[in-house]
Amino acid sequence: MIYLDHAAATPVNTKVLEAMESYFSDDFFNPSAAYLPAKKVAHDYEEAKGKIAHTIGAKASDLVITAGATEANNLAFTSLSTDLILHSGARPAGPSPRAAGAKPRAAALRTPLRRSIKSVLYLETEHDSVRRVAEQYGGEAIKVLLSGLIDLDDLRSKITDETELISVSLANNELGTIQPMAEIAGIIREVKLDRMKRGIKTQLLLHSDGSQALNLLDINVARLGIDLLTLNAAKVYGPKGVGALYVSHEARLKPLTYGGGQENGLRSGTENVPGVIGFAKAVELAKEHLNGNRKKYANFRKILLSELTDYELVNKKHSLDNFVVLCYNSIDAERLVFLLEEKGVYVATGAACAASKGVRSHVLKAIGLSDEQIAGSLRLTLGETNTEEQIHEAASIINETINKEYVRIKASSH
Ligand code: PLP
Repeated sequence: MIYLDHAAATPVNTKVLEAMESYFSDDFFNPSAAYLPAKKVAHDYEEAKGKIAHTIGAKASDLVITAGATEANNLAFTSLSTDLILHSGARPAGPSPRAAGAKPRAAALRTPLRRSIKSVLYLETEHDSVRRVAEQYGGEAIKVLLSGLIDLDDLRSKITDETELISVSLANNELGTIQPMAEIAGIIREVKLDRMKRGIKTQLLLHSDGSQALNLLDINVARLGIDLLTLNAAKVYGPKGVGALYVSHEARLKPLTYGGGQENGLRSGTENVPGVIGFAKAVELAKEHLNGNRKKYANFRKILLSELTDYELVNKKHSLDNFVVLCYNSIDAERLVFLLEEKGVYVATGAACAASKGVRSHVLKAIGLSDEQIAGSLRLTLGETNTEEQIHEAASIINETINKEYVRIKASSH
């Protein structure tokens, strides 16, 4: 098998599996329990959160662990509360501060939601887990340029005094396009300054979905000016169904779930200890191999682009090193995916979820591709399972399959 769909899923690294194992068996204890072995588990959990947070320049107490990136993206919107009132003299909900854990953020616990957010903006090429929730708030889409980069003029023109949240992913999941977060944050800073001068108190936060980027980019939330950042273990050779939302001190969230007060009271429920231990190991490995992997993927990308034939390159610039998006004239990419699978090469058309529903990619549409070009587009995403030998072989199999398709199409048109 030659697997070229690492943007859809990554296999769990064996070191990650090893790190997780004892937390399913010997160290199974509930971190909230009072006895010593449970306290050790609580300590390990917080330490793992600390490691995840450290890779983005944050602290353990800044992270809310979630069941994946979809939940983290949703949490950034549904829980955002910008106009909060304090309970008069009420004791914070949830248990007392946890033995080994961080102190609950009092503001988050004490402040019930009075109203939800007024106005949100999101990039039109966002993953559905951002688009769909943004739509619930009447969100307006910010346009991208033909390069896939955010249209900064469109962003500027759409920010109003009501805008409270702007969501732009660090790197797109269909094209790998890396967005200029620091520039976007700069625009937001200007807007905030102007609002301050005019006495407008509405806050403005920047959310970013970092699911695809965590593996390939050096991320620092302060440097990038991000207030809310979504992370996804499943894309970094960690377990599926584990993610996190970084929440800066500027942001105030209301709880997603109510109960035992875990995750600083924002997401109650017994912690997924093995998942978070695995996530931390995966993040540590990603950091360790970041530069080596980037070089490796850039080389593989170069090999593919030189050995493949008859394609048009879709993601020419500003892309993660492991994304190769191609467009084949008159070819049905969905058919191509099946033909390649028969030969042991696993690739994707647009996003995995969109492809399985037979929906035309909104991302490729946004960058100006015609329906025919979208129908003929293929996404290859490189990863740690790949060797150089595989890349040469994949190029040869794809060329051969495409040539056969052209012969078949020509014959059927006569
Ligand atoms: N955001 C991006 C950019 C993604 O690529 C994905 C997964 O494909 C998600 C969010 C959703 O992640 P999950 O399915 O793990 O919740």
